[in-house]
Amino acid sequence: MHAAFAWMHGNPKTILDWQRELCAIPAPPFGEEARGRWLTARFVEIGLEGVETDEAGNVLGYAPTPQLGAEHSGPIVVLSAHLDTVFPAGTALQPVVRTVDGADRLECPGACDNCAGVAGMLAVAKALVSTGVEIPCPVLFVGNVGEEGEGDLRGMRHLYRTEPLAGRIAAHVVLDGAGADSAVTQALGSKRFQVTIAGPGGHSFTDAGTPNPIAAMATALASIAATVLPDEPRTTLNLGTIHGGTSVNSIPESATATVDFRSTSAEELIRLEVALHRAAEDAVESWNARARAPRSRGLLSFSIAKIGDRPAAVLPEESPILNTLRAVDRHLGLPTGARLGSTDGNIPLSLGVPAISLGAGGEGGGAHTLREWYSTKDREAGLRRVLLLTLAIAEWAAEQ
Ligand SMILES: [Zn+2]
Repeated sequence: MHAAFAWMHGNPKTILDWQRELCAIPAPPFGEEARGRWLTARFVEIGLEGVETDEAGNVLGYAPTPQLGAEHSGPIVVLSAHLDTVFPAGTALQPVVRTVDGADRLECPGACDNCAGVAGMLAVAKALVSTGVEIPCPVLFVGNVGEEGEGDLRGMRHLYRTEPLAGRIAAHVVLDGAGADSAVTQALGSKRFQVTIAGPGGHSFTDAGTPNPIAAMATALASIAATVLPDEPRTTLNLGTIHGGTSVNSIPESATATVDFRSTSAEELIRLEVALHRAAEDAVESWNARARAPRSRGLLSFSIAKIGDRPAAVLPEESPILNTLRAVDRHLGLPTGARLGSTDGNIPLSLGVPAISLGAGGEGGGAHTLREWYSTKDREAGLRRVLLLTLAIAEWAAEQ
């Protein structure tokens, strides 16, 4: 263990170089391949075994342990960090490193979210492998795709749904961004929908009496916006976008809107989904009832498409991974602030797999903006925390 800590203490420049190289490689949603290839090369260089890219594009590699082998089917522990960014293809990525208050500060979109997480994962992998620390059960390192926005956690969904890993992951540590003082233990769920109301459309004067999709959409949205939301469990709704119509003197043929619901309670999310269906149906029915013969060219219909679905879940207070993290934090003198968040951890948590999402040490700011930055200040403490938690939880998993 001391040798592993010593590697991390002695190699801050290697870790920062990885992070800077990675930052310069674009990874828009659904475009993570180039980063995947870079990570594959690092995994092989470090000496991970069974390095591969799965069908979703996740890059996997195991720390060498005696239990590894074709016949191994026991529990494994996962340490993962997402590769994707929110930035579209074509965003300028020119990482700059300056010294601020004695620490290196890396400035680039994605520097912290999540190049800090990936660099931290590599540091832990390298520290474990190069010093030959005995690992009680296989630890799988994953650079995964599809965490941000429309990626909708597709990398994690694939990992948990697909053989040979489905059902074998005993515990999961997610590295996302910076920090060493808190942990995401409550998975904020979200459901996102696109509502479309369509009709025959027509001329604003000669076809007057034909029901209007924009009027029906306005009725539906006004009704859903007035839904009463609980403070506890904290639940929110947002009407995000609205589009429709062709010109001021045409009855539109369609209107669309997108809606976002968030909660830590799966029941609240279902309640809102039902309310949305009811609001759209009621609005369409009431506007169809007002269609006036003989000029009405027809009636309205609606459809609702799910465009995002992140499951909500909460890690139990006495979960082994949370108790282990508390012990690690006591040992290192760090606080264990429990937080709410929407991360890759939503998937394992919703399946009942103990999972926690941590920062990979250091400090960061400007996430999801072009002015994003990361500072290496106190990175080492965060990495020690991750390394100790991973090993301790692997010991627990080996006994399962
Ligand atoms: Zn992230």
